[in-house]
Amino acid sequence: MDIIVVEGLVKVYGGRRVIDGVSFRVRSGEVFGLVGPNGAGKTTTLRIIATLVKPNEGRVLVNGVDALAKPVEARKFLGYLPEEAEVYPRLTGYEHMLFHARLKCPNSYREAVSRGAQLSGLGNRLHDKAGEYSKGMKRRLLMAIALMTKPQVAILDEPTSGLDVHASYSVRKVIKEYSKEAGAAVIISSHNMLEVEHLCDRVAFINNGRIIDSGPPTELMNKYSSANIEEAFIKAIEASAI
Ligand code: ATP
Repeated sequence: MDIIVVEGLVKVYGGRRVIDGVSFRVRSGEVFGLVGPNGAGKTTTLRIIATLVKPNEGRVLVNGVDALAKPVEARKFLGYLPEEAEVYPRLTGYEHMLFHARLKCPNSYREAVSRGAQLSGLGNRLHDKAGEYSKGMKRRLLMAIALMTKPQVAILDEPTSGLDVHASYSVRKVIKEYSKEAGAAVIISSHNMLEVEHLCDRVAFINNGRIIDSGPPTELMNKYSSANIEEAFIKAIEASAI
């Protein structure tokens, strides 16, 4: 089932169409990657789906709910990890989880917190103040918070940004397992081509606010006779400019 339907999105900032007719669909149980260079429009697209930014044109359905007309309703299905999220420095990781879980699912918050603790991989460090965490630890805490309430749609903007090799690997593993076990749709954005090649069931190449091609990584590599997704991306951009 297509749990996310994005149709004809347009976003204009300062007279410039930074999103210029973006459409795609994501199924439950699928990891979908938006891949493109800086300024391509990935974060803006994800913010629109997360109901934080209103587009000038277009439509977003989240589990059949019109997210633009009924954002509060749509948010019930969404978990969101922003690109530049910060922590409350004086709260522990555990207190962050309690705070969010009590707000989002007051009747089952304990279960959510225990799931979050496990997803974060932070162990005893969860009881330290988050202001003392490394960048990678903060990212893992915030990702666990986005997933702990088992959202049917998880929107993760650059989930491995700033993480070392081991931390990136474990975050990718968490994402993959989460999508399959919870049967949830996960949409990520990334510049990291290796990451999307291994993590995503399907990717969309985005450039200058437009999706220039999309499909499973292996199909895109075959289509552009490329040894890896990075080369396929470059060739797709060249082809779209012709
Ligand atoms: P990056 O990989 O660098 O995070 P991105 O693909 O996520 O980039 P966006 O952050 O969506 O790109 O930005 C797309 C374009 O929209 C950029 O040109 C950016 O300057 C512009 N933009 C984004 N948000 C705003 C805003 N609030 N006001 C004005 N312009 C904006």
